[in-house]
Amino acid sequence: MKTNQNILQDNFGRQHSYLRISLTELCNLRCTYCMPEEGVKLEPRSHIMNFDEIYTIAKTFVDHGVTKIRLTGGEPLIRKDVQIILKKLATLPVELAISTNAVTVDRFIEVFKTCGIQNINVSLDSLNAEKFKEITRRHDFDKVYQNIQLLIKEGFNVKLNAVLIKGFNDNEIIDFIKFTKALPISVRFIEFMPFDGNKWDKAKMMSYAEVMTLVNSAFDKASILRIEDAPNDTSKNYKIEGYKGSFAIISSVTNPFCDSCNRIRLTANGRLKNCLFSATESDLLTPLRDGKDITPIISKAMQSKFKIRGGMDTLEKLESPELHSKNRSMISIGG
Ligand code: SAM
Ligand code: SF4
Repeated sequence: MKTNQNILQDNFGRQHSYLRISLTELCNLRCTYCMPEEGVKLEPRSHIMNFDEIYTIAKTFVDHGVTKIRLTGGEPLIRKDVQIILKKLATLPVELAISTNAVTVDRFIEVFKTCGIQNINVSLDSLNAEKFKEITRRHDFDKVYQNIQLLIKEGFNVKLNAVLIKGFNDNEIIDFIKFTKALPISVRFIEFMPFDGNKWDKAKMMSYAEVMTLVNSAFDKASILRIEDAPNDTSKNYKIEGYKGSFAIISSVTNPFCDSCNRIRLTANGRLKNCLFSATESDLLTPLRDGKDITPIISKAMQSKFKIRGGMDTLEKLESPELHSKNRSMISIGG
């Protein structure tokens, strides 16, 4: 049942229609940019939303105007009841999507189809098995590579997300773009972002401008086509003429897209984050368990959303460990 209360609009007139739900803080990989080496402090299991709670909170958001839900994590597909969650959420009138590292994707092809999931984002930071191992601290390159091919063969819309780290995988940017020659996928280069404990260093970040300089020197200028971005798109999209796929840059650090932000996030322990970079969170799970109405809490959280990057409106503020370390590690936010 849709309601007229516009609780998902913030003070800057931004309407939030895209909810990202983290299903778990656990992961079968250990990407260095995403989680600290020592791991993250895990919530007790009883503090994690069960599938009914996920459904109830998601439905509240859908009733107030959310039209797209992306499941993320940690690694969403390692949660034991993920199939039940997918099937329950598929009953809501929303576009359902998922972000995964693809290690176990082959076991979910049928359930994705049953649930109408078409858009699948896969993390892949290197096309080289050794480097994959270095960044993920695990040996799953072949599995992931095969599963990406499987998703394409099965007709899913696949986006590959590669976090760029200077001196590590910036020399693969052109290889990644050439990967789109025969494959109908979008490779999205993500600027390395600072989060608690990920040893972020501005010098390791490859900016949008630097990526484009490299692209311009590798391809004939006339063949680099700018594609129109979808509304609320966080990426600047391009393709090489004649290539089946495309590439994009997500420039959250150097070129934030906060003006058109329509995203909100729900952590695995049921906290609403009004911004990826926000240092504060609103607990929805405890009041839900206490039988309370969560809509006033959601409304208050939306009213307190900052205009830019959780209040870190300059690059200097974002760079300050004092400020960005107040935020969780990415593994427990969900990307
Ligand atoms: N496990 C799934 C995956 O890897 O796609 C979903 C969760 S992961 C946290 C979601 C996205 O966040 C991934 O695309 C990952 O590359 C990205 N990410 C994690 N840490 C990041 C960072 N420090 N800067 C930029 N992107 C990051
Ligand atoms: Fe796991 Fe995804 Fe984080 Fe890598 S980026 S550690 S796959 S949650």
